[in-house]
Amino acid sequence: MFKGFTRFLHNQEEQVKTLLDPQESVATLSPRIIPRSEHPVSRQHISDAALKVLYRLNGAGFDAYLVGGCIRDALLGKMPKDFDVATNATPEQVRDLFRNSRLIGRRFRIVHVRFGREVIEVTTFRGKPQDEHGENIAHQSDAGLLLRDNVWGSIEEDAVRRDFTVNALYYNIADFSLHDFANGAQDIESRTLRLIGDPATRYREDPVRMLRAVRFAAKLGFTIEPATEAPMYDLAPLLLQIPPARLFDEVLKMFMSGHGLTTFRLLSHYGLFGMLFPESEEAMADAAWAEKLIEFALANTDKRIAEDRPVTPAFLLAAFLWAPVAQRQAELESEGMPAIPALQTAAQEVVSRQLEHTSIPKRFGMPMRDIWELQTRLPLRRGKRAFQTREHPRFRAAYDLLLLREQAGEIPRGLGDWWTAFQQGDEHEQRRLLQKVGADPASQGDRRRKRRRKPSRSSE
Ligand code: ATP
Ligand code: MG
Repeated sequence: MFKGFTRFLHNQEEQVKTLLDPQESVATLSPRIIPRSEHPVSRQHISDAALKVLYRLNGAGFDAYLVGGCIRDALLGKMPKDFDVATNATPEQVRDLFRNSRLIGRRFRIVHVRFGREVIEVTTFRGKPQDEHGENIAHQSDAGLLLRDNVWGSIEEDAVRRDFTVNALYYNIADFSLHDFANGAQDIESRTLRLIGDPATRYREDPVRMLRAVRFAAKLGFTIEPATEAPMYDLAPLLLQIPPARLFDEVLKMFMSGHGLTTFRLLSHYGLFGMLFPESEEAMADAAWAEKLIEFALANTDKRIAEDRPVTPAFLLAAFLWAPVAQRQAELESEGMPAIPALQTAAQEVVSRQLEHTSIPKRFGMPMRDIWELQTRLPLRRGKRAFQTREHPRFRAAYDLLLLREQAGEIPRGLGDWWTAFQQGDEHEQRRLLQKVGADPASQGDRRRKRRRKPSRSSE
C-alpha cells in the first residue's frame, strides 16, 4: 500500500477509533481529509469520461466527487471498472450540463451520462430517508430547488446513508483529496467490511445489504467484522420481501463476477442462499450431489471468467435449479408420464415458484429450459438423434451440465465420455461410437416406443 497513505492512517488511528461506535449517532460523522500527497488514488485510475464529468460539474460551480467502489478499488490497487459521481447539483442541473445524459429512476433519481459505451452514474447527495419518499422531493426539485437544500442533502448526510465504511470515501476533484467520513481508509487497510451505523437497523432498512456484504467479502477477500456479521443469521428472511427483479440483479452480480463459489459458500453459511433459491436449498438437504453440482458449476464459471471466456447466467441457473427439476421429473415419470413431458412439466412448476423469489428474464429462461430438456435427449443417440442433438444451439451448455452431473455423482460416468469422443471423432469414429450405442440396451433411443407397447415395463 502507498507509504504516505499508511503513515497517514497510523497518525489518525487514535482519533478515529471512536468514530464507529454503533451507539454514536452516525449523523455526526465529519470527514478526515486525506490530502493528495498522502493517498495513492491518481487520475490515472480514473477514466477520461469520469474526469470530464467531474471537471465540468466543478467548472459550473458544483461540488463533484468520485465515490463508492471506484475509490475503494483504486485504494486496493485495482483498476476500477465503473465510476460513480456524487454532487450537490440536482439531477436537472446535471442533465442541463450534459447533452449526452438522461434522468433515470423514480425513487432515486440519478443521471446517466454516456460517452460511447461508458456510462457515468451521477447522483445528487441524498438526505434523510424520509425526504426521499414523499411527493415533496419531486415537486420541489421540479420547481428548481436550491443547492444544499434539505430535500437533497449534504455530503455528510450522503455519506452516512451509504452501506459500508469502505464505500464512503469521496475523491474531491477540486483538490484531489479524499474525504473519509466513516474511517473507511482504515478498514481498507485492515481489509474489513463494516456497516456504517447500527448493523441490524441498516439491514432492516435494506436487506439487500446482506447480499452486498457477502459479495464484497468474496470479491475483495475482506472479513465481515463481527457486529456486521452477527445480525445476518436472524435477518436473512427479510430478503423474502425484496422484489424478485432486484434480487435477480444481485444474483447476477454475485455469481457472474468471478468469485461465485466463495459467494455461494458465504451465502449458505449465513442462511441467505435459501432465501434466493429455496428449492435448490431443499434439494441439497436431500441429496449430496445437488450441492456438489452447484459448486462445480460455480467453480467452472469462475474459471472461465478468470480466463476471459464467455459465461452465461442461463447455464448457472440451469445448474442451480437442476436438482429440484430432476426430482420432480422423476416423480412425474414414476406416475407414468413420459420423460420429455415430465421434464417440461417439472421445469414449468419449478420455474414458476422460483419467479416468486428471483425473476428470470426470458433471454435466460428459454435457454435454461433447453439445457434441461437436452439432459433427457443426450442419452438417446440412435439413428440420426446424436447428430440432431449435436446441432442444437444449447448442445454445448447441455453437455457441460451433463459432465458436471456425472462429476457430482448424480449419474454414473460414461455418457459424458461418449459425447466427448463423439464431438472429437471423425466420421469413421462417430459411426463406430453409434454402433456401440446400438449394442448397448441402456442407451437405446426408442425406449419410449417400447414402453408404450409394453406398459407393464414402464415402472422399470
Ligand atoms: P461495485 O460497483 O464494484 O459492485 P460499488 O460499491 O460501486 O461496487 P454500487 O452498487 O455500484 O457498488 O454502488 C455504488 C455506491 O453506492 C456504493 O459504494 C455505496 O456507497 C452506495 N450504495 C449502493 N447500494 C447501496 C445500498 N443498498 N445501501 C447503501 N448504500 C449503497
Ligand atoms: Mg459501482
